Amino acid sequence: MEPTATETRGFQAEVNRLLRLVIHSMYSHREIFLRELVSNASDACDRLRFAALSDPALAAAAPEIRVDFDSRERTLSVTDTGIGMSRDEAAEHLGTIAKSGTAEFLASLTGDAQKDSRLIGQFGVGFYSAFMVADRVVVESRRAGRPGGEGVRWSSAGDGEFTLETVERQAQGTTVTLHLKEDAAEFADPFRLRALIRRYSDHIAFPVLLRPDGGKGGYDRVNQAQALWTRPRQELADDDYREFYRHVSHDAGDPLAWAHHQVEGRREYTTLLYLPENPPFDLYHREAAHGLRLYVRRVFILDDAEQFLPLYLRFVRGIVDSADLPLNVSRELLQQDPETAAIKAAITRRVLDLLAKLASDEPQKYRTFWAGFGNVLKEGVIEDPGNRERILPLLRFASTAAEGQAVSLADYVARMPAGQQHLWYLLADSESAARASPQLEGLRARGVEVLLLYERIDPWLVAQLDAFDGRELRDAGSGELAEEGLPPAPAMPAGAVPEDLCARVAAVLAERVAGVRVSRRLADSPACLVRDAADPGPQLRRLLEAAGQKLPPSRAWLELNPSHALIARLAALPEGPAFESLAALVADQATIAEGGTPPDPAAFVRRLNEWILGAH
Ligand code: ADP
Repeated sequence: MEPTATETRGFQAEVNRLLRLVIHSMYSHREIFLRELVSNASDACDRLRFAALSDPALAAAAPEIRVDFDSRERTLSVTDTGIGMSRDEAAEHLGTIAKSGTAEFLASLTGDAQKDSRLIGQFGVGFYSAFMVADRVVVESRRAGRPGGEGVRWSSAGDGEFTLETVERQAQGTTVTLHLKEDAAEFADPFRLRALIRRYSDHIAFPVLLRPDGGKGGYDRVNQAQALWTRPRQELADDDYREFYRHVSHDAGDPLAWAHHQVEGRREYTTLLYLPENPPFDLYHREAAHGLRLYVRRVFILDDAEQFLPLYLRFVRGIVDSADLPLNVSRELLQQDPETAAIKAAITRRVLDLLAKLASDEPQKYRTFWAGFGNVLKEGVIEDPGNRERILPLLRFASTAAEGQAVSLADYVARMPAGQQHLWYLLADSESAARASPQLEGLRARGVEVLLLYERIDPWLVAQLDAFDGRELRDAGSGELAEEGLPPAPAMPAGAVPEDLCARVAAVLAERVAGVRVSRRLADSPACLVRDAADPGPQLRRLLEAAGQKLPPSRAWLELNPSHALIARLAALPEGPAFESLAALVADQATIAEGGTPPDPAAFVRRLNEWILGAH
């Protein structure tokens, strides 16, 4: 096909879905389309300035963003003098969504407009939000540096297709024109527009200009046109920081907290770091882009500069502006630059300080943070031993003493009863399985709090974390419970269990268990299974096996509660089928109590029925 010909193409399926969702679920904040268009225009100016570093001929026009409207025609346009798009780029950028995981993300939306609008906001609705207010969008663009007066016109009614044609265009940069819907005439009103531009663009580093209705008169600058992070902190309101967050993060929500530092001295740089309120949909996609936006002396250099953040802080958004890095710095050079490493170390500490401050001053917000990002932060205990002392106080867990993940290690230590020396935890598959575990009974009876760990990363975490504050961390589900380091147990009715019971049960269950012993950890249940101290446990075992490691099969210890009537009954039985049946039933129960399935479920049902029906 002739490159100049008019051509109609279909949107990628994901774009169509996103368009429909945006139009329906974001309807009540449809004015955000203007923020998205101004934000894109500003990015385009940033990119041109960057390209001009290596090709000064590119920076022909002064970077600026112009807004025109015509209330009679009901049109609104946003023009920038930025990098522009070629025909292919327009087709690619305004017809597809390149982010990995998009299809899964869109499939996960609920259909509940309120919830979805939050999720879509985090996804970054961008350019497509124009279709909330326009029934036709026309983009004209010329890529900076292209010879001749050739540009591209992209147009669409947002109904599944767009048209491309090659047009005459002298000015480099882009003009996005919206043909407003009848019910969106308010966006061709000078007062409304001025207020919106002020709100959405005061932090934009380039002039944003507004021209009177119908182009009658000159442009008037609406914003300060100074990069926000270069302004003194006292001059900036919370709303200024919030707007800038939306611009850098592509998140329509609010940041939870931020920290703005202007560092001077031997090293000179500015950081503005944000904690988001809600996790992005791709937090756990390994290849998802993350990192800070890098500027060198206010010139935009790179998006997603991951070199300034450790992986476990990948949720942090914001900018770093260095006065010392060379303007021609690349990702590869950053990787090796000692300056980068020093700034990364300082940023890491600032984020950890910001989290500590949030935890102490605004616990409710910290809880929100923890719910969204706690499992990512835990990776830091493993990844960054140098900052472990700063990370440990930030961890939160569920525990036998509190609902939800609200307990810090310091809280735990502060309320340890006299006689308790260690910190205790239990690994399980879910919070409810952990809370119900018989393995906790003995510790509970002694007044010992147990941290309940059921997140995927927790087995790794505790494998790395052997002590806090000079105290050992101990696994409540493993090894024999020693009296040493524990408060005394309340007096329990002395069990009249003959010494040989354990050996008799072990003989019957030799295939199933590593051994049988009298338990100190039970109060109400007849028996429980306890891992051998050397066994990695089912959670870690699953992770290791999924990673391809071969492990020897595990067999747990069966612990019997000497004060339980069922165990007394068992002890009273002579050798024979009844003894064997009850011993196996006790082991089955112990398996079920920890959320497992008996090795032979049919045999379990048969045994249970024998006892219910009085066969023995
Ligand atoms: P995002 O900005 O989050 O990448 P958008 O949907 O807003 O998503 O835009 C998609 C892409 O279209 C941008 O990444 C950019 O490459 C291109 N684009 C949009 N607006 C402009 C513009 N004014 N100038 C140049 N490119 C643009």
